[in-house]
Amino acid sequence: MKVCSKCGMEKELDAFTIETKNKDGLRPWCKECVKEYNTKYLEAHREENRIRSANRFALHREENRLRCKKRLEEHREENRLKCSEYRKKNFEWLNEYDRVRYITKKQERREISKRYIKSERGRFVVAKTRDRRRRQLGFNVLFENELDEEYEWHHVDDENVVAVPVDLHLLYLGKNHREKLIPIIKQLYPDYEWN
Ligand SMILES: [Zn+2]
Ligand SMILES: [Zn+2]
Repeated sequence: MKVCSKCGMEKELDAFTIETKNKDGLRPWCKECVKEYNTKYLEAHREENRIRSANRFALHREENRLRCKKRLEEHREENRLKCSEYRKKNFEWLNEYDRVRYITKKQERREISKRYIKSERGRFVVAKTRDRRRRQLGFNVLFENELDEEYEWHHVDDENVVAVPVDLHLLYLGKNHREKLIPIIKQLYPDYEWN
């Protein structure tokens, strides 16, 4: 048994994290106290972290965008070749049985992927990929607001984006996505001027 120096309770040794530096090989605070402290710390610094990451993002946005675009353009042909070479090479490695199966299953796979794209998860993945592609091509952020994991970019048109909460964004995926999100954007960004 060991007494936690934070809460003062006597607890079993496995209630403490190992800390080889200390004399008894354990941390002075019990696991629960450490957990509580970490949670409180994160909460207290949440806003701060958010602002910091938003600033960092804004600072490097243009830089990243250009670098991305450049790299993509520079390596376009190279990447394409690498891809098809890789595919060819691996196809040769497949033995006869696998090759036959590969060809006969091609149609089947196509059907499966068609179904997948129509499913909820598939639609989500497709939208994500499309978003990523657009991002690589570059876009314009309309409002300098924070963007953490709970937010993602929504294209109000083909080149302008605003950050919207992920939940809301996913709720309105699919047909008429942009129109459906207009009222939400109006609420989030009252300053946005619609054309
Ligand atoms: Zn404790
Ligand atoms: Zn969107």
